[in-house]
Amino acid sequence: MLNIILFGPPGAGKGTQSQYLKDKYHLAYFSTGDILREEMAAKTEIGLKVKALIDAGNLVSDDIVVEMIRQRVKENIKGNGFLFDGFPRTVRQAEMLDEMFAGFSLKINGVLSLEVPQDMLIERMLERGKTSGRADDNIDTIRHRFEEYDAKTKPVMNYYETFGNLHKINGVGKIEEVFDRLCAEIDKM
Ligand code: ADP
Repeated sequence: MLNIILFGPPGAGKGTQSQYLKDKYHLAYFSTGDILREEMAAKTEIGLKVKALIDAGNLVSDDIVVEMIRQRVKENIKGNGFLFDGFPRTVRQAEMLDEMFAGFSLKINGVLSLEVPQDMLIERMLERGKTSGRADDNIDTIRHRFEEYDAKTKPVMNYYETFGNLHKINGVGKIEEVFDRLCAEIDKM
């Protein structure tokens, strides 16, 4: 089994690269951001609960996202592996994922961190905002998402660095170039 976490700041290209990675390695792919947007679109209980937080660029509670992932891991436990995008996003989520994986006798093979300079990220997200229809792709909310990222998500890198399974990947370049860099790292795992 191959279990990978694709890590990186908002706008780093995690969603784009995930589409290629999940096909190449036949992984069950879960983006907590996508799942939450589906819940909002369907106006489910969870969707209604998280909408104000997400629209303002805040993170939603650890318990909610971990439960969403737990269900999906359970349902796909017999597959080739998992690819997580946008999860874990806090150290608490990373700890809860470790506990969950231990319970299922699974392990994380590696964490791939896409590195892109912040000015380029903001540019990409503003561009995406023109067509994404996402209420959080505007300049003020983007700034707040980076504050959340710096305060709560960046520490997750140190968490994985300690265990020695963090791999930094240059996320600047053509989509295919970045994809090749990611694959080169995965093929070593
Ligand atoms: P981006 O990577 O561009 O910020 P995402 O689609 O990953 O976009 O996430 C959008 C929003 O969904 C986040 O700003 C946050 O509010 C919420 N979210 C997604 N994943 C998580 C998570 N693991 N924990 C808490 N909140 C999350």
